[in-house]
Amino acid sequence: MRAKRSKKYRKLMHQYELTFGFREPYQVLVDSNFLRAVHSFKMDLIPALERTVQGKVKPLLTKCSLAAIMADSPTNSRTDKPIRPAHLPPPTVLPLRHCSHNPESTPIDEVDCLMSLLSPSPDAKKNKEHYILATSDPPTPHEDKDAANSKKRKRVDPSQDPLRRAQSLRSAARAIPGVPIIYVKRSVVILEPMSTSSEHVRDGVERDKFKVGIQATATGKRKREEEEEAQKKERGLKRAKGPNPLSVKKPKKAKEDPSKQGLKQKKRNEQSKNGAPGEANHNGDGEERREDGEGAHKKRKRRHKSAKTSGDQPGGPEKAEAAAPAEATE
Ligand SMILES: [Zn+2]
Repeated sequence: MRAKRSKKYRKLMHQYELTFGFREPYQVLVDSNFLRAVHSFKMDLIPALERTVQGKVKPLLTKCSLAAIMADSPTNSRTDKPIRPAHLPPPTVLPLRHCSHNPESTPIDEVDCLMSLLSPSPDAKKNKEHYILATSDPPTPHEDKDAANSKKRKRVDPSQDPLRRAQSLRSAARAIPGVPIIYVKRSVVILEPMSTSSEHVRDGVERDKFKVGIQATATGKRKREEEEEAQKKERGLKRAKGPNPLSVKKPKKAKEDPSKQGLKQKKRNEQSKNGAPGEANHNGDGEERREDGEGAHKKRKRRHKSAKTSGDQPGGPEKAEAAAPAEATE
């Protein structure tokens, strides 16, 4: 099951790489709920993230997320400063992402801060920095089943309900194409499937690729056709040049060939034909054919015989003579 899931996630991250240009190490914006969940399930931040995205990660904590964490944390009575909570990893593990939303650079709401980083320009929803969002639902109220629980619930303003805030963050992130979302579901770190907005972009990209593919194959075909045509032309020309090697051009070849094939022919002539080197020089083609004939002489012999008997082939007598020594050697 685990292997299956990791393979699925690797594929998913590969799609983000192809479609949106994600590259390792992946920058992961980690929110306060995610840190709390990871800690509550006794997971280490970086290994948990890297297992999920199947690659190297660079986790980041925004200044506003840090402010939210510290605001929730009890203050040290002696120093009057908030105690660093156990679920907040040291800056060496989780560096701070500086964000300035206002001239005073006062921290803003965590969700607003994260959304402003995921989609910097309000008109064009685009995750320019290739951030992954790692979030979680806040600890569920029934985790602490005290009597105070019901009272707490009543006190919470619906717009400020942490669960709703967490859910609104995720749905808003899904609306931005190309935002991988990691979240903790029970004790498992999940990589969400691509959102519909991401899928639209991916499918658009794939359609473009498909078009390019079609064009490529079309040009490929054209090239192949051109090559074939060229080959046909070449063949045609060859045919025009040497229409029948056994007929008109033989005397010309007889003049040309001995210089090229003289050595071979002499050797063969010494071996098989002692008496008639002139006849072999007479026709280079005939010599080659005889060579073939020695490989499969039975068929050749029959043809020559029929050629002899019928006598209708112009090159018949010559061939028959050329094949004769082969017959004799048997
Ligand atoms: Zn911020």
